[in-house]
Amino acid sequence: MTLCRRTTTTTSSAATTAVAATRRFAIVGAGIAGLVCARTLMQAGCDVQVHESASQPGGRLATLETPFGNFDTGTQYFTVRDSRLTLALERTAHDAARRWSANAVRVLDAQGRVIEAAPASHEAHWVGHPGMAALPLCWARPLIGQGRLYTDSRVTAVQRDAIHANRWQIHTENAQGEARVLGGFDAVIFATPHSRLREVLLKSALHIPLLKELDRVDAAPCWTLLLAFPNAVQPGLQTLGPQWNAAYSTHHRVAWLARESSKPGRAPIERWTVQASTAWSREHQSDDAERAAAKLLKAFGEITGIRATPAMAQTVFWRDAQTLQPLGQSFVWDAALNLGACGDWCLGRRVEDAFVSGLELALHLA
Ligand SMILES: Cc1cc2nc3c(=O)[nH]c(=O)nc-3n(C[C@H](O)[C@H](O)[C@H](O)COP(=O)(O)OP(=O)(O)OC[C@H]3O[C@@H](n4cnc5c(N)ncnc54)[C@H](O)[C@@H]3O)c2cc1C
Repeated sequence: MTLCRRTTTTTSSAATTAVAATRRFAIVGAGIAGLVCARTLMQAGCDVQVHESASQPGGRLATLETPFGNFDTGTQYFTVRDSRLTLALERTAHDAARRWSANAVRVLDAQGRVIEAAPASHEAHWVGHPGMAALPLCWARPLIGQGRLYTDSRVTAVQRDAIHANRWQIHTENAQGEARVLGGFDAVIFATPHSRLREVLLKSALHIPLLKELDRVDAAPCWTLLLAFPNAVQPGLQTLGPQWNAAYSTHHRVAWLARESSKPGRAPIERWTVQASTAWSREHQSDDAERAAAKLLKAFGEITGIRATPAMAQTVFWRDAQTLQPLGQSFVWDAALNLGACGDWCLGRRVEDAFVSGLELALHLA
């Protein structure tokens, strides 16, 4: 086990002095895995610096604010099986996560008929409150408060430090293309999707065992359509279409639909998030946004019976939405190089997998 407070011994003419050196970690990515890892290492006394390419933390726990209300553009909800996540939600999430009584329908056919109902004792569905991004933002606060989180800071390459050959330096770039080199890190942890990690390792010419391990992982993209129907909020017309709020679908284009306005703390305007199926998203990953929106809107109408023209129809394309083939271990740590990785892709496709992965890597190191 590697200790965060490392004791090195220096010899002076008078005596041998023990010097406590705090280990410096660069963490790449501020999704749930990176945030949990960074918080845990910081609590253990380590010096952490988190670099996030987006303008805010959260990764795939994302919320888009619109004039009609917000949309959870990535994760729709999450379930909790690990007692450590239960504890974290109870003790540290405050009101940033709530249960969502989704009134979920298990599966619909292509015409929107129910072919499998949700079992009565279904697991609780958790959502961020008032949007999915509220939870990672809440967990990022201690890092933000201590100036440890750098947003708009994409890590483009990682190299051995120019001054201390056993340390690391990272190359970053912001949205304006301004580049920086930051050095003096004892260790680097990647908490990005596996495909982004591969890109950075290749760009860094780091042909290390971790790179080979990434070949075992497979993740699929997801086209997502966001729809708003403000005209539905009129006296006597509270919702359009079906009486359920969320459903899995067997339509070849659509895998999941949820009424955003049914989630806790959301604005009442009728809003739907529609996630395309894995097969369709893969097949249409080169489509432009307009074409994808038109096709998904047509499928949405077939499933829900809602044929009204939405006031807003916007798409989001997630390149690495869900893991199809995980690595099969909770994290990767190369003790010889002091370089590691965590993220949902280590264990599976769920928010909880990201949480467990980030936590277990930090506990291994702290
Ligand atoms: C459409 C969709 C639906 C989903 N539905 C569910 C669901 O219903 N239930 C569920 O449990 N899970 C769901 N998931 C999966 C869930 O969102 C993920 O498992 C989880 O959020 C992954 O967290 P993470 O920290 O591992 O990765 P991410 O959230 O992807 O975080 C990685 C972070 O790294 C940053 N980054 C990447 N490259 C760099 C770089 N070079 N430099 C700096 N930063 C970088 C990214 O911007 C991102 O913020 C869904 C995901 C999507 C996209």
